[in-house]
Amino acid sequence: MSSLQSKFTFNNRFVDSLPADSEPENFTRQVHSAAYSFVLPTKVIAPAIIAIDESVAADLGFSTDDVADPFFTQVVAGNELLDGMTPYAMCYGGHQFGNWAGQLGDGRAINLGEIVTPAGDNQLMQLKGAGVTPYSRGADGLAVLRSSIREFLCSQAMEHLGIATTRALSLTLTGEKVMRDIMYNGNQALELGAVVCRVSSSFTRFGSFQLPAIRHDIELLTALADHTIRTSFPHLLRCEDGTEKEIDKLIYLQWFTEISQRTTKMIVGWQRVGFVHGVMNTDNMSIIGETIDYGPYGWIDDFDLHFTPNTTDNQHKRYRFGKQGEIAQWNLFQLANAIYPLIQESEPLEAILNDFGDSFQLQWREMMAKKLGLLNYKDNDDLVLFETLEALLSSVETDMSIFYRQLAKCDLDKDITANEYWLSMFNNAYYQPAQLDNIYVSKMSEWLGKWKTRVQSDNREHAEHAAQMNSVNPKYVLRNYLSQQAIDAAEQGDYQELHTLQKLLKNPYDEQPEFEHYSEKRPDWARDKVGCSKLSCSS
Ligand code: AMP
Ligand code: MG
Repeated sequence: MSSLQSKFTFNNRFVDSLPADSEPENFTRQVHSAAYSFVLPTKVIAPAIIAIDESVAADLGFSTDDVADPFFTQVVAGNELLDGMTPYAMCYGGHQFGNWAGQLGDGRAINLGEIVTPAGDNQLMQLKGAGVTPYSRGADGLAVLRSSIREFLCSQAMEHLGIATTRALSLTLTGEKVMRDIMYNGNQALELGAVVCRVSSSFTRFGSFQLPAIRHDIELLTALADHTIRTSFPHLLRCEDGTEKEIDKLIYLQWFTEISQRTTKMIVGWQRVGFVHGVMNTDNMSIIGETIDYGPYGWIDDFDLHFTPNTTDNQHKRYRFGKQGEIAQWNLFQLANAIYPLIQESEPLEAILNDFGDSFQLQWREMMAKKLGLLNYKDNDDLVLFETLEALLSSVETDMSIFYRQLAKCDLDKDITANEYWLSMFNNAYYQPAQLDNIYVSKMSEWLGKWKTRVQSDNREHAEHAAQMNSVNPKYVLRNYLSQQAIDAAEQGDYQELHTLQKLLKNPYDEQPEFEHYSEKRPDWARDKVGCSKLSCSS
């Protein structure tokens, strides 16, 4: 027997404190009065781990030897359980693209259990792509290698960029094939199946509360809210004398305030680094404010507020880059509706929702100030500076990441408004230099002059403001074409690129001379290539 079996402690708080579906069989159905259904992962033929996030493994308490143990592979593929695991799929609903979609639930995610980490906190291990559950709604419950690589890498990218995210412990090939129609155009093909073991302290979503609320199941709604507060927001219940407060309306309101704040912080983080989630449905909004469910997400190469990577959203671009804050507020509004029965007063909920707009604006301004090397956001002139820049970046195809890193390099002792100077600084950020007409050139030069004056008004050394800029403007992001190259190689059995990206993404803000080419702008061949700019939900 593997030494792994007895080494880990599980404390399955979700299962222990919330009602389970009473039906033991695994078939698609509506599940009422229950937060989850027990279901076992489907066993797979020949699991093989192709990537591990060592830091997640270490945080969970898995040593290098543990991870190398063949039994570990069996566990993260869903073939074996560790003592104390109680696999289950969660029941939730959600608004998809603005419409109520009813019950959704974990159609292909299975929680194995809540591990107690060496640091003493609880982390859920969840397998994505581990087979059908009662929530699979006719789909196969599986995941393919390409989308699993995308989830695995992006979890890591986000973590190291300092943006709250679910994490990924392992990426495992199942040894089985999965049929997919990548672009939904009738071209079905067999692809390699994979399972990602995701990790978070909570996989509960806005939609987890919406479903019981819409079904008028106040008992379940209350139990789920109380459990979430006790386990993920325990500080809200702590009294100064060490005793615990009763959960009441005020606590629910404080809880909603904090969800709103965490969500704001997450989205401002996305805007800062150029991440577009792509499917901000309410079932993809984590209650603890983590980036969750990496589907057809994308990264901005050229700065484009209208960019959406998701082909399903091409027509309305509901989830486009520049609208993510507004959508988050819309989603919070749906959550407020869902938890209203716990509070039964709309004014305080509305006040919190209104605050979201102001607070988002404040944090966005502060974030922009930091990106531009200013000590703080000062006044409306700063706002004009930010907005003028965004208009300029949008008017000609400009690589966002490169632009900000180059801006930090501009030497304020020189005349940075001189065309030769800044054109050579930003040369590598422009996708179509022919777009740089006289109007643009004179406006950019004018903007740079204003920016310089504003930075100088803070009276800081160049090294100081530049270091600040480089600490918030990543040099390396998970450009869509980079993931696609790692995917193309991995599909041929070559995992080197995948591992290189893992390494690269650990230090996104640092200069890494050996990886310089990964910071360059998207090559032309990748402009419209499937996987590099456009993705479907098929995964
Ligand atoms: P998403 O927007 O990708 O997070 O998925 C929306 C819903 O569809 C969730 O309930 C998923 O569990 C479910 N789903 C997505 N793909 C599959 C699949 N291959 N098999 C079963 N359910 C799926
Ligand atoms: Mg989802």
